[in-house]
Amino acid sequence: MAEKHTKHQVVIVGGGITGLTLALCLQHLKVDYVLLEAYGSIAPDVGASILLFPHGQRILDQLGILDKLQSAGLPQGTLDYRDGATGQSLRRSDFGDIFRRRHGYSLLWSSRHRILRALHEAVAEPQQRLLVNKRVTRIDSLPEGVLVNTDDGSAYEAQIVVGCDGVHSTVRKEIASPKRTGGDVGCEYGCFFAASKCTPVVTETVEPGAGALISLQDGQVVLGRGLDDEMYFFCTWTLPTSQQKCSIDDIPRFTKEDKERVLDRFRDVVFGDNGVRMQELFDNLIRSGVTALPHYTLRKWSSGRIIAIGDAVHKFNPVAGQGGNSCIDSCALLVNALQEHLGTDLANMPSWPLPSLSQAFEDVENASVRKVTTLVEESQNMIRLLSWRRWYDKIMYRYIVPYLPAYFLLQPHSAAIVTGVRLRGPFKQPEAKHDWLYDEERVPSKPMSL
Ligand SMILES: Cc1cc2nc3c(=O)[nH]c(=O)nc-3n(C[C@H](O)[C@H](O)[C@H](O)COP(=O)(O)OP(=O)(O)OC[C@H]3O[C@@H](n4cnc5c(N)ncnc54)[C@H](O)[C@@H]3O)c2cc1C
Repeated sequence: MAEKHTKHQVVIVGGGITGLTLALCLQHLKVDYVLLEAYGSIAPDVGASILLFPHGQRILDQLGILDKLQSAGLPQGTLDYRDGATGQSLRRSDFGDIFRRRHGYSLLWSSRHRILRALHEAVAEPQQRLLVNKRVTRIDSLPEGVLVNTDDGSAYEAQIVVGCDGVHSTVRKEIASPKRTGGDVGCEYGCFFAASKCTPVVTETVEPGAGALISLQDGQVVLGRGLDDEMYFFCTWTLPTSQQKCSIDDIPRFTKEDKERVLDRFRDVVFGDNGVRMQELFDNLIRSGVTALPHYTLRKWSSGRIIAIGDAVHKFNPVAGQGGNSCIDSCALLVNALQEHLGTDLANMPSWPLPSLSQAFEDVENASVRKVTTLVEESQNMIRLLSWRRWYDKIMYRYIVPYLPAYFLLQPHSAAIVTGVRLRGPFKQPEAKHDWLYDEERVPSKPMSL
């Protein structure tokens, strides 16, 4: 018998970027929701760097929290392309202004922790809405809803449950046949991610907001200086062929010894003209982690009154910086579809009929799966190029990329950005001027009943 049984319109599972962004969307619509987080804190000081692209920022701008987020990060400055084998700088460019002109916003460089904190601070009634130490274990169907059970014996009844519970999603397992055709997912790379305190030599080498992309054979480093003299970086390396496919529920985990081997591999990689090496960052770690990088887009995101979004159903490698931005995009797609099929006054609808929900969830899948599959595959091509996987990648990186006009080099990023959607309904509409139309502006969409 559950200790506690409460009723809401929506239960969100997971308090990462996806869960908190969705919470803020629902808050704006005055929908009664509760967010259940397995761990004891909503914005723990763990995790990696995040580059927020214009399409992610556009949605956060609509939620009225862009200022808050901007003060949680720095606009990205110059980006240095380096050859990790020789230490040579091949190209230095400043792309931020190009993104701002094209898409209305620059690039925002921060950490997952700071972004989560900013989102968390924007949640009204956090004590009642964001419940920690609530690990969801099972979801039961009710005649007109769902019952979400947690490991402390509580149960939360709702019209829908949205799984925003990341790569090791429990909610995903409740959705029938959640795997891609073929079952296994690709997992070509491992990743060591960290933040370090800047030492004087690092401060001299990398300006606030500036960063570097460093390539070597079967490996690659992304780094950048953030707020408060923190350096964020991650090193990726190619996994052995035997590990490059895995079950989505059995993603490789790494040991301390594996981590030491990674550090050995990257410690002599040079990231500044003065010869400063990665060892300087390894000696001053504030936090770090090591993870496998599966990549996938699941075809089925929903079943009945259950839907999963974010990393639970699509996982990018971090090199192209699209993972978190796609999570934010999925929140907007879901909120738009709910309004489209159930009506704009969601807050005052006591019952959300299953047929309308099914249509809404189908819209989300139809709008997302193909788009995200392409973006995930392009991200894989990018990491393969940057880690010189194919015979031509090193030639491309060393002799062609340095001379490509910015227009050409940024094309894949811009192509991803323009697929981003905006929140429809009673949200502030984006006003930032931009030269390139978003796809939804190009094709006049059907009139919204909003
Ligand atoms: C090194 C690195 C760099 C990255 N850089 C970028 C970047 O530059 N730009 C970008 O856009 N993206 C980037 N990403 C990707 C981005 O961080 C993720 O896509 C995003 O954070 C995923 O958010 P999420 O909320 O879907 O999942 P998560 O962040 O994994 O959150 C899931 C939450 O659910 C909780 N949870 C899990 N199971 C349960 C359960 N059973 N019950 C209750 N709660 C549960 C977890 O505790 C967690 O809080 C990067 C990722 C990495 C690893």
